[in-house]
Formats: sequence, structure tokens, C-alpha cells
Amino acid sequence: MSNDQKPGFETLAVRAGVLQSNFQEHSEALFLTSSFTYKSAAEAAHKFANVEGFIYSRFTNPTVTMFQDRLAALESAEACVATATGMAAIASAVMGLLKQGDHIVCSQSVFGTVVPLLNQICKRFGIETTWVDPTNLEQWQAAMRPNTRMLFCETPSNPLGEICDIAALATIAKNSGAWLAVDNCLLTPALQRPLELGADVVIHSATKYLDGQGRVLAGAVCGRKELIDQVYGFVRTAGPALSPFNAWVCLKGLETLKLRIEAQSHAALKLARWLEAQPQVKRVHYAGLESHPQSQLAMRQAPLQGAVLSFEVEGGREAAWNVVDNCQLISITANLGDTKTTITHPATTTHARISQAERDAARIGENLLRIAVGLECVEDLQRDLKRGL
Ligand SMILES: *Cc1c(COP(=O)(O)O)cnc(C)c1O
Repeated sequence: MSNDQKPGFETLAVRAGVLQSNFQEHSEALFLTSSFTYKSAAEAAHKFANVEGFIYSRFTNPTVTMFQDRLAALESAEACVATATGMAAIASAVMGLLKQGDHIVCSQSVFGTVVPLLNQICKRFGIETTWVDPTNLEQWQAAMRPNTRMLFCETPSNPLGEICDIAALATIAKNSGAWLAVDNCLLTPALQRPLELGADVVIHSATKYLDGQGRVLAGAVCGRKELIDQVYGFVRTAGPALSPFNAWVCLKGLETLKLRIEAQSHAALKLARWLEAQPQVKRVHYAGLESHPQSQLAMRQAPLQGAVLSFEVEGGREAAWNVVDNCQLISITANLGDTKTTITHPATTTHARISQAERDAARIGENLLRIAVGLECVEDLQRDLKRGL
């Protein structure tokens, strides 16, 4: 293989970023140590002066570095910084890249906790946010101000699977000297690589599909080195660093990511088609379905549409809760990205803290249910849902 030929995704997922110790271990080592020693005072001084080598695990740790380098390779990014959670990744990207007086344009269909992060915390530090319909490019364009420094979106959105046109948003951002940040949690780099479509920053809640087995909380920010250096400066100083153990879990999770997300996406599509055919189901929201209004854009950006889908049942809250309460196999939990399929009623769980008017605007009805498909046999999932339908 010549040097300029980049290995394939599958190869990078198991081989990229390996740092081997003197023991020549085959599987990547877990370095559970808070600090590192020096051979001499001079070596200590040199390492501190150059921020080179390993000093302290809030700054750098070999296991965390392996996870960062492997994820960067998968996202086609120059660099990556890992964080303790997905929210820490979003907060660190904003705090590392923006300053007082800056403005953000944000999709209104983002992970729920992003709303108080931007509207309350960032606002207190003088960073303002305008919220827009993620699918309406005119709204994005109209919301731009001279001080807009960041566009932020999540695509597909959760739970309705709305799609943002990443390349078009990247153009809007570039024309105004702003950065486009994309939360790539739901599709992962195995299915969608926003940086290749023109985005500047990719954000992950590694808690979801990168771990993929519901074990740890973790996050990451990927992008060009000059941007990630700024985010790293915030993480190193403010301290939301990723623990070596959680980094090791996610590092090994990346090795099976493509197999898992592809299998889960195929299962989600099968389940979505089955749900569409049920008389008690009014509507299914999944970008992989031909009936999805943005299915062409969705398929242009990613070959498969991930494992999260939602559907509206005939009736209201009672009918929806009846489906949840009759699940014997599917887990009743608001989490997603696990090998075990989960079901939740967004209006009374993930979206319960926002007002009725905000829920209506976000189209989160009382009859809506969200499923994050795992790795079980699809027929077993169908049987489980059929009971409550
Ligand atoms: C879960 C999630 C987050 C937040 O991640 P945590 O690890 O829980 O902090 C951010 N974005 C998306 C799309 C998520 O699903």
C-alpha cells in the first residue's frame, strides 16, 4: 500500500491511532493513571514547556489519545478532543470557539439539553442564539447576523428524523465567516461524514453508538487542528476531560461500529416499513422511508438512516402509553444507541420540560413514540409492539 492511499474505514476502525507500550500488547492498553513521571527535572521541564508527551490525564492520556486519533481518522478530521459527555463536547465547542458578543444560529430540533445550554448558560456569557427550522434554508439564511460565528445542527434529528442539508449550510456559514458544527451522534462516521460535506466541526455524544452498548458517558469534538486546539484549550483548563476507562470502552466500540450501525439501520428500516403497514399507526417518521419528505437528501448524505425512528399511533396519550406498557422485550428507557432496543414517549419524557406551545412547534404530539432499534431479531420487536397496538 502506498503512503498516500488512505486505508478503508473498516481498517481505520480497528487499526488507526494505536499507541503501543514497550510490552508489545496486541489489544490497546487501558492506562488508568492520573499522572506520569519524569526521568529527571530537565525532562519534566521539557515536557511542561512543550506540552509534549504525557504529563497529567486532564491534559492527555495515551488511551484517550488513541480514542481521539481513531475517531479523527474515521471522521476525516485533522484532530479530535474527547470530553466526559456529549453535552461537555457541545459546551466545550461553544466555549472554546466563541466569545462574548458572538451569535449562534441553531436548529430547533436538537438534543433537548442544548436549549438551556444556549438560552440560559451561554446567554449569561453574552452569546446569543436564534432558533430555526432545520429543514428551511431560507430561515437559516435570514437568521444570519454580522456577528454570527456558528451554525449548529443535528441531522437526522431526534425523534422526527428531519434532515439538514449539510453542504448548503456549510455554504451559508462560509459566506458569513461562521463555522458549521454538526452533531453526528445518530448516524456516526460509519454512515455520514459531515466534514467531507463542508462542515467545520463534528460533535459526538459517544455515549450512544460509539460505545454502542450502553456502558459509559463520553463525547468528542472533531475538526481542523486550529479549531480543535482552541476546544482542547478549554477542555484542558476547565476540566471536562474524558476518563481513560471510558475512552478505552469507546475505542474498542469503534472497532465494531460499522457492523452495528449498519445492522441496526437495516433493522430500523424493516421495522419502519412494518409499522407503516399497521392500521393502528397513523404515521412513521424515518428518513430511510420513501414516504419521508426529505428522503432524497437523506440518501445523498448517508447510505442508511440510522436506528432511531418514531411513529404516531391512532388516538392520544392513552393509546401511546398502551404500546409502551405492553412491551415485554423492548426496554422502556429514554436512552438510545444501545444494542438493546428502547422505547420512549417523548412528550412525557425527553420533551416534558418544554412548554406545550414549544412541543406543538416541535411536532411532539401525545400520540408519538420513539424507538431506538438494537440488535435483536426484528420479528421479536414486531411481536412486542403488536401486543400494545
Ligand atoms: C445524548 C445526546 C447528546 C448528549 O450526550 P450526553 O453524553 O448524554 O451528554 C447530544 N446530542 C445528541 C444527538 C444526543 O443524542
